[in-house]
Amino acid sequence: MTRYRWHIVGHLPLLEQLEKDVETENVAHSYIFAGPPQIGKHTVALTMAHILQCEQGFCHDCVTCSQISKGIHSETMEFRDDGETLGIDAIRDLLNRLYLTPSARYKIVIIERAERMTTEAANCLLKMLEEPPPQTLFMITTDNILELLPTVISRSRTLNFQTCSSAELLDFLSLEYMDREPKTLELACELSLGRPGVAFKILEDPDMMEFYTMLYRDINRFFAFNNIFERFAYLQELIEDSNKVGIFLDIFTHLARKKMIEVGPGTDARYLALLDKIIASKTALRQHVNPRLLLENMMLSF
Ligand SMILES: [Zn+2]
Repeated sequence: MTRYRWHIVGHLPLLEQLEKDVETENVAHSYIFAGPPQIGKHTVALTMAHILQCEQGFCHDCVTCSQISKGIHSETMEFRDDGETLGIDAIRDLLNRLYLTPSARYKIVIIERAERMTTEAANCLLKMLEEPPPQTLFMITTDNILELLPTVISRSRTLNFQTCSSAELLDFLSLEYMDREPKTLELACELSLGRPGVAFKILEDPDMMEFYTMLYRDINRFFAFNNIFERFAYLQELIEDSNKVGIFLDIFTHLARKKMIEVGPGTDARYLALLDKIIASKTALRQHVNPRLLLENMMLSF
């Protein structure tokens, strides 16, 4: 059981760890919340900010709580992921604010998807971590910790977030969306692959529901195609939208694992090789390798 109201799906051991850090006054200067996208890392960081800044430990009611929720609390600074890189100017500006503004409680800096930082910006952040301004807490989230500077990692306390189990996600959705059909909630849960952020999007937006359902169905069909031309034709459509490629690979991984379990031992090698290829493709995609070559190569290998 947690002491504070986190309102988050899963991650219980990590929340307990953070609460323990607060209670024992052992809060780190810098935390890294690492793990797949859309699983609640930013929400945990924001709730931790509430707990530390609010006089009553996140009462949901006071001026501080309301300012943090609206993103206008002067001592809780958020760098939300806007899809852009995070440059040196933004980090320098932050540095000035941290040293100049006096603070009653904490000065909290939340950097979402810190791998967006340029090398210069990351080095500037590192300087701050080496000599942290007093009462300052950094919470850095990342979808891929390998893209952060090793020196940033070594100066931070890392918490590794995992995707949520279907059971805990479904429980949460049932309480949040009481007016929805259980079947719809189960579908959203399955399509999200254990990522609450994705499940919420699917439930809030009918277009997203349709998009995910189609992608799921297409990939299922994909495994049935034995004709490489059919596969290539589908890929051709897919790569026209770069956002889709990442989601495609996630669902593809999930279904390949599922197939592997269904098929059982003996024919594992083919799926294992495919899973290796998918993982390699995801890494290459982040390094801006041509997605078409990558996906075609993957398809040829199974
Ligand atoms: Zn409050």
